[in-house]
Amino acid sequence: MIIDYRSDTVTGPTREMRRVMGEAPLGDDVFGEDPAINELEGFAAEMFGMEAAVFCPSGTMTNQIAIKVHTQPGEEVICDQDSHIYQYEGGGIAFNSGCSVRLLQGNHGRITASQVLQAINNPDDIHKPVSRMVGLENTSNRGGGSCYDMEEIRRIRDVCDLHGLSLHLDGARLFNALVATGQRAEEYGRLFHTISICLSKGLGAPVGSLLLGDQGFIRRSRRIRKVFGGGMRQAGMLAAAGKYALEHHINRLGQDHEHARLISEALSRKPFISHILPVETNIIIAEVRPPMTPSDFVQHMHEKKVLLFSVSPTRFRMVLHLDITPEMVAHTIKLIEEI
Ligand SMILES: *Cc1c(COP(=O)(O)O)cnc(C)c1O
Repeated sequence: MIIDYRSDTVTGPTREMRRVMGEAPLGDDVFGEDPAINELEGFAAEMFGMEAAVFCPSGTMTNQIAIKVHTQPGEEVICDQDSHIYQYEGGGIAFNSGCSVRLLQGNHGRITASQVLQAINNPDDIHKPVSRMVGLENTSNRGGGSCYDMEEIRRIRDVCDLHGLSLHLDGARLFNALVATGQRAEEYGRLFHTISICLSKGLGAPVGSLLLGDQGFIRRSRRIRKVFGGGMRQAGMLAAAGKYALEHHINRLGQDHEHARLISEALSRKPFISHILPVETNIIIAEVRPPMTPSDFVQHMHEKKVLLFSVSPTRFRMVLHLDITPEMVAHTIKLIEEI
């Protein structure tokens, strides 16, 4: 038995999910004729109290479309230095949108309204790029699954409104934040101009992300999706899996959070661990004390058929998800205790 903590993207569709995929009504989505996709887009938009949504093959694409539609070349995007849109999307902000990035040093991936305010360029200074968009990430991946405080988001939105900036949320793991904090999807729908959510992470669908926004924004996004090569045809099977995940796999995320807490407690008792980022959701990022290195730990666990990644020369990451059972967690804790 292999226990895979490398990412919450490794989940496979459940039996029931495969059944609804097989029975999904299909059509050509580039013509707007795939019933399952239309249903998913409407369902998700309604969940967030937003006007519209567009289904895309990945969260990278939904983020990159949002940035493309919010900005013009030469403008600037403000985000945390650990943001996925900066760290893990292949330089897409520059490649796709021709924008520069203002990186902020946040707290475990979270930035504040006063940091944003200070990073906004004077629009009358012709030397500076025009600040156009703020990107937040919730939960923050490199921040160890940290969650935003609603009040801070409200203050950031106020700053954006005052200075004419768009506010985009990379909500790849937003449902983990909702479950962990008790916040509501509609609050997010009110505070952000656009939201990206992933169905392929902890929710357990095989493929897919959604970009949510107002009617006009999503109409422009469909054009950019086509330009980026993301116009899919009979992709309703994927959409059906996504809708099933939204209906059945949100509440159970709390179990992943509990599993993460149990494993991190076991790790915290080991002398070779020097520090663990606060475990708020389903991600554990731990710092290893020299002479042990993250690769030593990864290698050791690999030999025991437990998979994980190191994420820097000093840190490794473990991610909990749908396919990790309580028995697997107990086995992992036993292996850690034996080291
Ligand atoms: C996984 C992830 C994405 C999207 O990744 P894709 O693999 O392109 O779907 C976006 N943002 C964050 C924070 C992520 O963890």
